[in-house]
Amino acid sequence: MDCLFCKIIEGTIPSTKVYENDHVLAFKDIAPQAPVHIVIIPKKHIATMNDVTREDDVALAEIFAAARQIARDLGIADNGYRLINNTNKDGGQTVFHLHFHLLGGTTLTPQVN
Ligand code: AMP
Ligand code: ZN
Repeated sequence: MDCLFCKIIEGTIPSTKVYENDHVLAFKDIAPQAPVHIVIIPKKHIATMNDVTREDDVALAEIFAAARQIARDLGIADNGYRLINNTNKDGGQTVFHLHFHLLGGTTLTPQVN
């Protein structure tokens, strides 16, 4: 499968990992939009948020647990952060392996897009 994030999971494309367990991997975004910009992905290939099923409940819970842990570890939990998913064309999704952006380390500007 020609999927960038599956290749990062396999290790054939390098990444700077910040968190990993059986269900999820998190690594630094290659083009950070904030002082802290982490990408959190399930190890199972799921193309978009639309493709998530209830069978993925554990993986989704693990993604949210990873976000909480990473935010604490990187010292942004108390000041705050954003956890963002982009879905398909209108959402601005460019990599079609489900992922959540964890953004923080500065006061992010209020925005809806
Ligand atoms: P999205 O636009 O929501 O699909 O986000 C895809 C994200 O993946 C972007 O923020 C990219 O900067 C990031 N990205 C693309 N290639 C890599 C890579 N090799 N390592 C880390 N992050 C990447
Ligand atoms: Zn994939």
